[in-house]
Amino acid sequence: MHIILANPRGFCAGVNMAIQSLEKALAAFGTPLYVYHEIVHNRPVVEKFRSLGVVFVDHISEVPSGATVLYSAHGVSPEIRQVSKERNLRAIDATCPLVTKVHLEAIRFAKDGYTILLIGHAGHDEVIGTMGEAPQAIVLVEDLDYVETLAFADDVKLAFLTQTTLSVDEAGVIIRALKAKFPHIVGPAKDDICYATQNRQEAVRDLAKDARVVLVLGSQNSSNSLRLRELGEVFGKSAYLIDSVEDIRPDWFSADDTVLVTAGASAPEEKVQEVVGWLKTTYDATVEEKVVREEHVNFPLPRELRSLQVI
Ligand code: SF4
Repeated sequence: MHIILANPRGFCAGVNMAIQSLEKALAAFGTPLYVYHEIVHNRPVVEKFRSLGVVFVDHISEVPSGATVLYSAHGVSPEIRQVSKERNLRAIDATCPLVTKVHLEAIRFAKDGYTILLIGHAGHDEVIGTMGEAPQAIVLVEDLDYVETLAFADDVKLAFLTQTTLSVDEAGVIIRALKAKFPHIVGPAKDDICYATQNRQEAVRDLAKDARVVLVLGSQNSSNSLRLRELGEVFGKSAYLIDSVEDIRPDWFSADDTVLVTAGASAPEEKVQEVVGWLKTTYDATVEEKVVREEHVNFPLPRELRSLQVI
């Protein structure tokens, strides 16, 4: 067996920042410590923090008055910030700056009287947060079929935005359809898909051709990880999304396979190495790391945490 290890893979700058924020908040404030939604969409990461006493909540009303709460990397709507204030919570905002950028674009377009077509997945934490910035001005566009059904008067000003973790190819198709149907629509230069999502998809696009099997480390609710698995399938590969080595089924492989291993932006490198180690032990696999693009992106901790001294 031969393993092609995709690079870049795994943690992005936003996930690194969110996890470091939670670690620092835990060291500084101890428990009880609350996180609104999963800090990042990864089961092993969430389970690790849960074992340390962190409480993850789906409703801000579950956080006791006066307690400390972190907002996850996916961001929150203004309504959540307002409720936090009313409940006198100490809020620490670990929203990824690239998600905040989309929020700010939504606010600006709404203020300028645009109807915003947000390309994204219904129910995703990021989409809920972005739509909350201007609920009366945003229409969610989930797929190409929905574009067909859209109708606006000629004098309606239209703008598009996208979720940060979409398939680059699928979002491109939808954006082209929107531009064809509404030639006056405006938007960002290309889309809002973040650098990490684009780079991990680019690596799979470049490397999958040499593999028969694609293994993606990531959780089932991780949008960017799901897109990597789908991309493997687009190239006709057997592609699997797994949280850890325990999810592997030996009947996925033959002893002489070439396996592309990658990881979504919220999947820890430790889990990647466990999978590589298992394949090496079980199939005597050789490993070749292929760098498709270098990444040098870092985000600062939230300002609520920057000046805190932790021993
Ligand atoms: S995947 Fe992109 S938008 Fe999401 S946290 Fe990472 S860098 Fe930020």
